[in-house]
Amino acid sequence: MEQRRAKILGTLGPASNTDEMIGALLDAGVDAVRLNMSHGTHDDHTLVYNRVREQSSMRRKPVAVLGDLQGPKIRVGKIPEPGMELAVDDELVFIADPDAPIEPGRVTIDYVKLAAEAQVGERVLMDDGALEARITKIEGNEVHTKVVTGGLLKARKGVNLPDSQLELPSLTEKDKLDLRFALELGVDMIALSFVRRPEDLELCRTLMKEYGREVPLVAKIEKPEAVQPETLPAIIDVANGIMIARGDLGVEMGPEEVPLIQKQLIKLSNERGKLVITATQMLDSMIRNPRPTRAEASDVANAILDGTDAVMLSGETAAGKYPIESVKTMDRIVRRIEQTETYWLDPPQDMQLGHTTNAVARAAVISSRSLPDCKGIICYTGSGGIARLVSDYRPKVPVYAFTNQPATFQSLALYWGVIPIRFQTSSPSGESIFIDLDHAALERGMFQRGDRVVIALGWPLKAHTSVNLLKLHKIGETLRGAGGGDI
Ligand code: PEP
Repeated sequence: MEQRRAKILGTLGPASNTDEMIGALLDAGVDAVRLNMSHGTHDDHTLVYNRVREQSSMRRKPVAVLGDLQGPKIRVGKIPEPGMELAVDDELVFIADPDAPIEPGRVTIDYVKLAAEAQVGERVLMDDGALEARITKIEGNEVHTKVVTGGLLKARKGVNLPDSQLELPSLTEKDKLDLRFALELGVDMIALSFVRRPEDLELCRTLMKEYGREVPLVAKIEKPEAVQPETLPAIIDVANGIMIARGDLGVEMGPEEVPLIQKQLIKLSNERGKLVITATQMLDSMIRNPRPTRAEASDVANAILDGTDAVMLSGETAAGKYPIESVKTMDRIVRRIEQTETYWLDPPQDMQLGHTTNAVARAAVISSRSLPDCKGIICYTGSGGIARLVSDYRPKVPVYAFTNQPATFQSLALYWGVIPIRFQTSSPSGESIFIDLDHAALERGMFQRGDRVVIALGWPLKAHTSVNLLKLHKIGETLRGAGGGDI
C-alpha cells in the first residue's frame, strides 16, 4: 500500500493505555502518541511510556512520543461523581482554596489569584466552553457567578476566563516538574500549552538546557495573545512546530474564529518549514459512535488539503468507545486526499536562502520531481535535520531517513512523508556509505534493483558536517571511487 504522508498523533488515556490497545493503535496507523500531563501521575505516564516503547520495538515501528505540558490551565477541583448539575440562573461559587468543602453550588478552583484578578461581569467558561457563568460578586477568595449555560460540571474540568486579565505564569511549578520528568523519561518532543509570547518558549528551552536534555518544542496555539499579527510569526520562528489547539482556541476566541486562524497557522508554518499539527475534535462524534459525521470527514480532509503535517486525535483515542476505528477512519480520509492531484500542486518555495542543508534539501526534492521514475529520497542523517527539510519541500516520493540515532529514529516518525530507518554504516569513515545504503534499501524491500532514488548526505561522514552532497542513484548500481573505495 502507498505510504501515507501526513501523520497521525493519538492521545493516550484510559481507553487506550494497555499493551493491547497501544499495539492495536500502532497497527491501525498511529505514528506518534501524546502523553497529556494534565492527567495522571508520573508513575502512570512511566508505565504507559514503557508500553509504547515496547510495542514500538516489537513492531520495529518508530513512534514519536510527545509530552504535553498542561501550562497555566485553570481547573475546578474535585467534584463527587456523577458531577454537579447546573441550571440557568443557579448561583455557582468558585473558591480559591483547595481544602474548602465541596457542597452543591460551590466548587474549588486551582488559581489562587482568581478573586484578586477577575472582575464582576466577566465570563467564566467551563469544560471547553460547554458551560458558562458570569461573575456577579467577589468576596474574599470567593468568586460568585450566575450560570448562563447549564449542564453537568465534572471534576477537574478546565476553566477559561476570556475577558479577564490574569497574570498567569508561562510555566507553572507543575509544568517544571513535568518537564524534567518527561525529559528524563525520554519523550521525543515537548508541547507547551497556552503559549502567549516567544519568551514562554525561550523559558521552556532554558529549562530544558538546565535539566540536561533538549528536544523539539511545539507551541500550542490557543490564546488570543498568540495569534496577534505582531506575535504569531515570532512564536512560529522560535518553536520547532506548532499545534493548532482548537479546543481552547475555540473557547477563548469563539468557534467562528477557528477556521480562518487554522488556515493562517498552517500557511505560516508551511512557509517557514515548521511542523504543524491540527488538533482537537477532528472526529469527536467517534468518541460515542463507530462512524464519523460527514462534517468531521470534511474537517480532516480540509486540514490535509491545507497542508497540515499531522492530525491529532484526543478524546477519540484517550477516552472514547472507538479508538481503533477512529485511527482507521482518519487514516482512510488522509489517504483518500493524498490520492488527489490537487494535493500535490503548489510545492513550497525556497525557505532559507544561504543555508547549505536547505539548498541540498530543495535540490533533492526538485530532482525527485523532475525524474518521473524516482521512487524515493534517501537521507543519511544524525540529527534528522536534512529529512525534516526535505519533508518541508513536500516531495511526491517518500523520504527514507536512515539514522543510527535512536532519538532521531523516533522523533522523525511525526514528520510529513518521512519513514525513519535504523541503520549503521559498515565503515565509519564512510567510504562504502552508498553501497551500504543501497544494500540496506534492497534488503528491506524498499526498492527494486534499477529503481532510481535521490540520496542526500553530509560528506565526509563525521559529526557536524552539513549536508552538502546529492547523488542521483540507481539501486543496485555502485561505482568505484577515485580514492579506491566503493561509492
Ligand atoms: C486543545 O485545547 O485543543 C488542546 C489540544 O489541548 P488539551 O487537549 O491539552 O486541552
